[in-house]
Amino acid sequence: MNTESSPVSSADFAPASSGVAGRESPSEGRAPAGVEHHFTVDVEEHFQVSAFEPYVAPADWSRLESRVAAGVHRLLALLQRHGARATFFILGWVAERHPLLVKAIAEAGHEVASHGFDHRRVTRQTPEQFRESVRRAKRTLEDVVGAPVRGFRAPNFSIVPGCEWALDVLIEEGHSYDSSLFPIQRPGYGFARGARDPHLLKTAAGTLVEVPPATLRRCGVNLPAGGGAYFRLLPYALAAAALRDCAGRGVPGTFYIHPWEVDPEQPRFAVSWSARIRHYGGLRRTMPRLERLLAEFRFNSVHGAATLRRLLPQRIVAQQHPSRP
Ligand SMILES: [Zn+2]
Repeated sequence: MNTESSPVSSADFAPASSGVAGRESPSEGRAPAGVEHHFTVDVEEHFQVSAFEPYVAPADWSRLESRVAAGVHRLLALLQRHGARATFFILGWVAERHPLLVKAIAEAGHEVASHGFDHRRVTRQTPEQFRESVRRAKRTLEDVVGAPVRGFRAPNFSIVPGCEWALDVLIEEGHSYDSSLFPIQRPGYGFARGARDPHLLKTAAGTLVEVPPATLRRCGVNLPAGGGAYFRLLPYALAAAALRDCAGRGVPGTFYIHPWEVDPEQPRFAVSWSARIRHYGGLRRTMPRLERLLAEFRFNSVHGAATLRRLLPQRIVAQQHPSRP
């Protein structure tokens, strides 16, 4: 097993095909009616966010009020109302404590994927620690749902330049795709030279599909427009424009949200003003905006939108998904 660091050159980020939607239908067995975008949920407690790291110690997590199930059920009901499917990137820590919640997600027809084990940023882990976290989260989730877990999203999109070794670890631990490289330039995270659309990554360890969060390119700059705080704090039109832009290129845009973002009643921690705005700002806007987004765009899970099968060489699909056609 390759444990050496293998930096990914910018050439590797050229999209591997001209478009995900390509000549195939957007979803097998369904009439094509425009691009199906990726709706994704990062399943974590309201106190586990990166912005709260200086204020809430992991040792205290077990003593704090759990609200993740209510938020997830709100999102499940929303998706059901709109006939949409989603990918849920779930923390192993949450899955250990709420296995029935993970089962409910899978039984509702959504894709279960991994958000790592304990929300530690990749930048704060050694390759060995990261591997252990990836392995433990994947095993925990697979034990609960009884099916392979293919997708991964790093806490706080923390696979940043210098941490490309993490992509090797993901391949070696059996993941087919990653959604951690946010192609923007900003303090804290971002992989500015990453491609904006779903694409194939080739590293020393093998092949991985990368599914970056949606961005909007204006004046030569990639603006984050794919969800989260940007969705709550910036105009709705930004996210809608990003998804329309993706559809215009014939590729799915990737939208993300968290259960705590549809929970305006969550308790308030005494945090800095910037963390307060980022985490608590616009919480009451999230649900009405999500209703509108789901009414205006078609969404599926990453798996359901057939993004992997369109990008991965058939040989690899056959190895990784032997049960699928
Ligand atoms: Zn997270």
